[in-house]
Parts: sequence; C-alpha cells; structure tokens
Amino acid sequence: MQNREVIVVGGGMVGALTALLLAQLGNKVKLIEKSPCIRPMENDGFDLRVSAFSAQSKNILVAAGIWDNLPKSRLCAYQRLQTWEKSSEKLCFDSQAVGLEALGYIAENRLIQSALWDKLKQLDNVCLYEKRQVKKIVNGYAEVSLLLDDEQSLRADLLIACDGGNSAVRQLLQIGITAWDYRQQCLLITIKTDIAQQNITWQEFRESGPCAFLPLANNNACLVWYHKPQKIKQLQSLSNEQLKLAILQEFPALSFDFSVQDKGGFPLTRRHAQRYYQGRCVLLGDAAHTINPLAGQGVNLGFKDVQCLVDLLQHCADLPINNILQRYQSMRKPANLVMQTAMDLFYKSSKSELPLLRILRKGVLSAAQHSGGLKNKVMKYAMGL
Ligand SMILES: Cc1cc2nc3c(=O)[nH]c(=O)nc-3n(C[C@H](O)[C@H](O)[C@H](O)COP(=O)(O)OP(=O)(O)OC[C@H]3O[C@@H](n4cnc5c(N)ncnc54)[C@H](O)[C@@H]3O)c2cc1C
Repeated sequence: MQNREVIVVGGGMVGALTALLLAQLGNKVKLIEKSPCIRPMENDGFDLRVSAFSAQSKNILVAAGIWDNLPKSRLCAYQRLQTWEKSSEKLCFDSQAVGLEALGYIAENRLIQSALWDKLKQLDNVCLYEKRQVKKIVNGYAEVSLLLDDEQSLRADLLIACDGGNSAVRQLLQIGITAWDYRQQCLLITIKTDIAQQNITWQEFRESGPCAFLPLANNNACLVWYHKPQKIKQLQSLSNEQLKLAILQEFPALSFDFSVQDKGGFPLTRRHAQRYYQGRCVLLGDAAHTINPLAGQGVNLGFKDVQCLVDLLQHCADLPINNILQRYQSMRKPANLVMQTAMDLFYKSSKSELPLLRILRKGVLSAAQHSGGLKNKVMKYAMGL
C-alpha cells in the first residue's frame, strides 16, 4: 500500500483519522475539507457536539499518536455507567469489574478533530485542501480523478469518502441509502455544575425518549434530552434560565445546582448506504451509516471502519483494490447493521404502546444487572474490546 495516492474527502474525526493513519504508513494523502477546523481554546466554553469515545477508540487514537496531546482540561474519563427504565431497577456497569481505568472518555468532537489536523500538518506526504468541495468524480478502471469547486483536478488510486451523513461523494456516485427520520429529536445542553468533575454517565429511558447525563472535564456536563420534535423546538426557544426551570421540573433529578451554558437541537436520522464501495471509491463513518445516538456509538463505529480499511490496505496490499474494498464491505456492513438494529429495538420498545414490549425491556435490563460475567462481556463488547 505504501506510496499509493489516496484522496480523503471530509476532514471530520473519521476522515482526519483515516488520512493520518494512511499517511503514517507512507501513502501520499490529499485531504479535502469544506469547512475550517476550529480548535477549542483553553478558556472557551464547551462545544455542544461532544462524543463518548470507547476504550477501543482511545486505543486507536493512542496508536495514531494524538491521545497524549489532548489537553486534560477538556477530556473526561468515566468509570461508571448506569441505565434504567423509569421506576425500575438500575443496570450498573463499573470499569473496576473489567480491570480498566475507564469505561470511556467524553470530549468535544472538534478537540479530537483539531488534534488530528495538528498531526497531519506535520507530515510532508499530506496535502490539505481546506474550504474545498468535490464537483465531479470520474471513477475509472485504473485511477479515480475528481474536480474541485475551484476547478483544480486531482487523481488518486483510491478515494475515501468521509464527508458525513449527507455525503456528496455518495450522491455523486449514485449509491443509494435506506433512511428514515426518528420521530424524536435530541436537545444537547451544556451546563456548569457546582460540584467537581463526575465519573459517572447515566441514562433514564422514558416513553417520550431517553434523558442522559454526560460528564465533561472540570465542573461541566452535557444533558441529552430526547423528545418529540415540537417539544424540542419549544425547549430550544426558552432562555437559559427558563430552560433550567424546565430541567428542574421535567428532567430526572440532578443532585447538584447548575447553570445552563448553551443548547441546540439535533434531528435524528438513520441512514445506511446500500453498498460501501464502487470502483475505486469507498465510504466510511457517517457517509456510510448514521445511527440513533442513544448509546453513543456513531463515531466509534466510524473509527472501526477506519481501522478495518487501513488494516486491509496494509496487510492485503497485493490484492486488487476492488477485492480489498469488497472485503471491507463484507466485514463492516453487517457489523454496523447489527448495531443500528440494536439501537432501533431500544428506540421502538420505549415508544411502543404495547406494555408487553416495555415489560420485556425492563426484564432484559433487570436480568442483565444480575447476569454477572455476561454483563461484563456485554460491556466489553460495547467498549469494542
Ligand atoms: C446528537 C448527537 C450525539 C452524538 N453522540 C455521539 C457519542 O456520544 N458517541 C459517538 O460515538 N457518536 C456520537 N454521535 C455520532 C457522531 O457525532 C458521528 O458519528 C461522527 O461525528 C461522524 O464523524 P464523520 O467524520 O464520519 O462525519 P462528520 O462529523 O459529519 O464529518 C464530515 C466532515 O466532512 C466535511 N464535509 C462534508 N461535506 C463535504 C464535501 N462535500 N466536501 C468536503 N468536505 C465535506 C464536513 O465539513 C465535516 O468536517 C452523535 C451524533 C449526534 C447527532
């Protein structure tokens, strides 16, 4: 694979990681990104877009050489995770039970993205095309070429699309998707708390949708409130002080005082590309699949795509590109579908009018709490270990 020419479209977390790992293996990488990457400054408030990174995702970022450079003032490890159905037994996970220092880490997306970009800028074999978009793709037999919006033309052996849920590359290649909007949206609310950094994340399932608490570094946190779109719109229209009152009245009880810093609503759409590659072009991350974020799996699945493709390109370098991409699809598409379906089951059972389904889910949560070794196995699977 070394010395191949690769174009990566989209420099979000998935695209920037792909570009970095391939460049570190000696390939010539061109990264095209339409928006500038914004680095959070030491005293900036926390951005609304935060993600929970699994232990496996952390390991990938460690291997890429960026984890140790992340400022500790913006990174939060959590050791405990609790989830429950309203008024039922809690299912509790603890990192000590599996001998790990943390179950996962919460950080702003832009923090991870900017750390990856910093590393990319140090490499001679990486060319960055910022504020550029793809206009046309010619997916040829021997090479792929594309035209940018500034009329520059580029060529490569492989084009990797990491341009997010509305992937322009996917559309230019006319790769179809199965997709639907969930009848829920999600309000992200950053808060400052009057207690020190927490090491627990929790989620309560309700008929209207889950309510979750994500700890952030120092005395910061993010509340995640799923509800019907019109309710999210109404909550979003409140002032920060009014929203605090609504949280006190309607959100699960918080054991500390807080002030609302920022808020933003996000629509939830499930998408799955009907195929992950075509000729010399391949889809990764949200360009290939978007998932209900209720278990925080989206970017973790994207990082697994990256690891899988990079490993195949490295270890099966003698195979034709088409065979490598076919293997990538056969490894990642079913795995992503399983996770999407699991999230849909949770979503549908909580919304279901059928009491039987809800009783079943309560039963599953309770049985899981008392399942000992099995519970730890499930936890390790979710952590990607
Ligand atoms: C509310 C919410 C909460 C979430 N929480 C979690 C969580 O806790 N844990 C988790 O694992 N996941 C979570 N996710 C999912 C996670 O945010 C996504 O899976 C992840 O951001 C996908 O990364 P990506 O790089 O594939 O795509 P994106 O982050 O969408 O990045 C795509 C990049 O491509 C660029 N781009 C777009 N179009 C073009 C173009 N035409 N040309 C060039 N560049 C282009 C964009 O500017 C962007 O930089 C959450 C999602 C939502 C909506």
